[in-house]
Amino acid sequence: MPRAFITGITGQDGQHLAEFLHSQGYDVYGMVKGQSNPRATQLIEEMPYVELLPGDLADLPSLVAALEVAQPDEVYNLGAISFVALSFSQAELTANTTGLGVLRMLEAIRMIGGTQNNPIRFYQASSSEMFGKVREMPQTEKTPFHPRSPYGCAKVFGHDITVNYRESYGLYACSGILFNHEGPRRGIEFVTRKVTNAAARIKLGLQHELVMGTLDTKRDWGYAGDYVKAMWLMLQQDEPDDFVVATGETHSIEELVQRAFAEVGIDDWRQFVRQDPKFYRPAEVDLLIGDATKAHEQLGWKPEVNFEDLVSLMVKNDLELEAKKAGISLAT
Ligand code: NAP
Repeated sequence: MPRAFITGITGQDGQHLAEFLHSQGYDVYGMVKGQSNPRATQLIEEMPYVELLPGDLADLPSLVAALEVAQPDEVYNLGAISFVALSFSQAELTANTTGLGVLRMLEAIRMIGGTQNNPIRFYQASSSEMFGKVREMPQTEKTPFHPRSPYGCAKVFGHDITVNYRESYGLYACSGILFNHEGPRRGIEFVTRKVTNAAARIKLGLQHELVMGTLDTKRDWGYAGDYVKAMWLMLQQDEPDDFVVATGETHSIEELVQRAFAEVGIDDWRQFVRQDPKFYRPAEVDLLIGDATKAHEQLGWKPEVNFEDLVSLMVKNDLELEAKKAGISLAT
């Protein structure tokens, strides 16, 4: 059985990827940080087939020790401080985890076996936030980077060091430049989930207001379940390479809010939404839209869930979750 090692296993993508790789017949190992991580406890219940190993991207010996146990064929580095807003207030931590963590993972792979004789294949979770103040539309693998947050800067380092280790040491190392992808497992701090959860709670009478930052920014939003397949496909090719993964459609946050409220039968969403400058960022990324032609042509990858279905999926999930928590029965 092939063996995969995933950092960030407790996150949105880590869970989707673990599920997918398990369905493909992999032995799945996941790295968890901290001495009493509540998300790890939940993961053990939901995915008993995943073997959890302790480790932290800020601690090289722990990465080496985890790889020694897992002896993986494939390493997926999904662990990161991934919330752009937090990266402004904890920039050093973000640089250390999201940026230098990639270098440590690559070094651990070199120590354990990333040569041509025993090639561990490596996937780095790069991000469309690297494009930031975009230089061209849509963004491709060749678009220059101009990050607008400490998160984006750290991801640029992670991306470049992955390419550098591939070119310098012959590692099979790929970087997936993934545009925003969401789903019911998205953390509540992220804007999509904040909106779908609020729409559900307002519908159920559990919340009266949704406080937002800017509504104008536009993103290329896909479904996480689709995107983890692209990660896996990248590691199944003859040669390592970098790929943009995106839907090719862009939607504003306002459209997201309008769609989420419509899903619960509220047309006049404006009466529930207030904007507060405290949610504005020191530098904003106004518009992202990806061109995934290379992934379509070389990986045979295409997104299956569109924007409308994605929002619907997330709102329905939040309605069920919030109703259950509050002991409210949903009429069928
Ligand atoms: P997520 O839900 O925020 O998960 C982040 C994961 O990183 C969590 O499992 C977290 O563990 C772990 N982590 C944080 N600090 C760590 C450390 N010091 N050592 C080891 N692990 C650590 O993120 P996601 O949405 O699944 O995204 C997965 C990856 O793709 C991230 O690198 C993200 O930046 C990147 N990405 C995401 C998107 C997107 O739209 N989702 C787009 C492009 C790129 P705890 O649970 O213990 O905190």
